[in-house]
Amino acid sequence: MRKIIVWIAMLLPAQDCYCWGFYAHQKINYFAVFLLPPEMLVLYKPNIDFLEVHATDPDKRRYAVKEEAPRHYLDIDHYGDHAWDSLPHKWEDAVAKYSADSLNAHGIVPWWLQVMMNRLTKAFREKDRTRILRYSAEIGHYIADAHVPLHASSNHNGQFTGQKGIHGFWESRIPELLAMRDWDFFIGHAQYIPNTSRFFWDRIKESALASDTVLKYEKALTNHFPADQKYAYEDRNGITIRQYSTAFSVKYDKLLNGMIERRMRQSILSVASCWYTAWVNAGQPDLKELVDKKFTAEELEEMEKMELVWKSGPQVEHN
Ligand SMILES: [Zn+2]
Repeated sequence: MRKIIVWIAMLLPAQDCYCWGFYAHQKINYFAVFLLPPEMLVLYKPNIDFLEVHATDPDKRRYAVKEEAPRHYLDIDHYGDHAWDSLPHKWEDAVAKYSADSLNAHGIVPWWLQVMMNRLTKAFREKDRTRILRYSAEIGHYIADAHVPLHASSNHNGQFTGQKGIHGFWESRIPELLAMRDWDFFIGHAQYIPNTSRFFWDRIKESALASDTVLKYEKALTNHFPADQKYAYEDRNGITIRQYSTAFSVKYDKLLNGMIERRMRQSILSVASCWYTAWVNAGQPDLKELVDKKFTAEELEEMEKMELVWKSGPQVEHN
């Protein structure tokens, strides 16, 4: 049986990975909860499982909703050097300059984050428990994606430089290997963000500036690493598959000098800070009265449906 599983895993095409792996997305939402003030913890702590599980909904939706994919990245190099300054930060201005179709073709994450921020703020204002939790879980996903350097590069999976697979290597393989073993997620407190649009663009700028390093160091290490030891058959989530070897992964992480851990920590702080900022901007509604409310049967059914669509989607394993 195991042999068959390995065989199937080998037959699968190189996974197209566009986001922190499911593992890291869930951890980011989970740890973000602990950065919140008590007035928010009262609702977020009892729902921490929901926030963790639904951190991956935007990825699952990609198979059912065609508008979903561009919300996770921005090929900023498509717009030339220093595009974080030249691209209009307001969606309407960007559409006027480039058209919505053209923007969607190269990713829209920083603009989409502002849409999600507005939705979450409105949900707080209306004390809509379901929307608060769903938008919190989902904005956590998009914020985390904006922190991934290869989400801000058109060479997002090293496809232009003979480094196919590097996307999942950086954001799935290494966090799964090292996050709970070596990394520190004691981060402090959520902070109020006075200008969220500026904040999102700053994170994209950091990601874009780091993307060269991500690619360059992998290439350099590959050139100096025994070719037959770069990949190995190792366990991943209970399945033995061919993947970047532990030795190669640990070396690469060292070369990056803690970059992945830093980006993951920054993601957690950013997620908590956005949740907190939306709550403050909504007038700090009292969340205690929402604690005992439950999801309705229709809401649960809708979530179930999305799960089913995702499970019948084109990929067997997702990142
Ligand atoms: Zn994503």
